[in-house]
Amino acid sequence: MLPTSARQLLVHAGETPAAAKRRPGFEIVFRRRPGGDGLRQHTIAETVSCTGTALYSGDPVHLTLSPAPAGSGVVFVRSDRNDRPEILAHPGVVQTSGPGMTLSDVGASVGAVEHLFAALFGLGIDNLRVEVDGPELPVMDGSAAPFVFLLRSAGILAQRAPRPVLRIRRPIEVRDGARFARIEPARSFRVEYAVEFEHPAIRRQEYRVDGFDSALFEREISAARSFGFLRDVSSLWNTGKVRGGSLDNTVVLDDTGVVNRDGLRWSDEFVRHKVLDLFGDLALLGVAIQGRIRVERGGQALHRRLTAAIAATPRAWRIGAPDAGAPRGIALSPAPA
Ligand SMILES: [Zn+2]
Repeated sequence: MLPTSARQLLVHAGETPAAAKRRPGFEIVFRRRPGGDGLRQHTIAETVSCTGTALYSGDPVHLTLSPAPAGSGVVFVRSDRNDRPEILAHPGVVQTSGPGMTLSDVGASVGAVEHLFAALFGLGIDNLRVEVDGPELPVMDGSAAPFVFLLRSAGILAQRAPRPVLRIRRPIEVRDGARFARIEPARSFRVEYAVEFEHPAIRRQEYRVDGFDSALFEREISAARSFGFLRDVSSLWNTGKVRGGSLDNTVVLDDTGVVNRDGLRWSDEFVRHKVLDLFGDLALLGVAIQGRIRVERGGQALHRRLTAAIAATPRAWRIGAPDAGAPRGIALSPAPA
């Protein structure tokens, strides 16, 4: 977590929205309308659970999400271990190797967390306790939509503490040949993303996020699924490295098109999923972001390097409380640039 002057307030795990409302200092906000309250930190109102399949091990996993105090960030608990180790999510605990985003600290790790984080970023949820009874989160349908559904079912709770905003003052860029990820000063949170694959179903796809809010995230981005090429996924699935992989959680492409019987959710689902993954990485910063991000042919490695570079370059940004009239990061519609 980046430094925050947020005031600590307690929400009791398992507390109902009605009970939470009676406690001083809380207000229930169900952000159905775009442009909800992005000025303050948010958690969820009630504890919710789900069961799914782990992508890599193929094992069943039980996941429980609970409210957490303002300023506490996202904490993972390995509930299958007697010592119940807790991992606080921040860019410093992201493992540099391995597929999926894996957080590792205090001798424990939790993998495949990126789509949950994308949902948290998209809905503007800052504080959450995540209990999982295995080394990775369930893959669900390969998108962030099931996590959005779960978080919405729990209810989203505004906390009194302000959400800090990271304002970019100087560009930060990471490169890999012609591929790059860059963030530069802007009056709002904006993303321009491009992917390019020599495949008839993809070719070049560009996606622009401008005027971002949680409703737009839910409607246009959250349901975009992971994808892979048949030659790659069939060897991964068959050699047992990705035991839970299937057409239920991956868009698979053969030489000519999409293998999945129901096809795509959008013709540009591929670039939308890349944007979703980018959000999952940015969420680790634990702040709203004011800046324009451009990614050319990105992927997990570039997203991670950009997030790490932002965290490691404090002279390029300033953290502050959102001020009146200024664009407020992810949860509010930005002022016109
Ligand atoms: Zn992904």
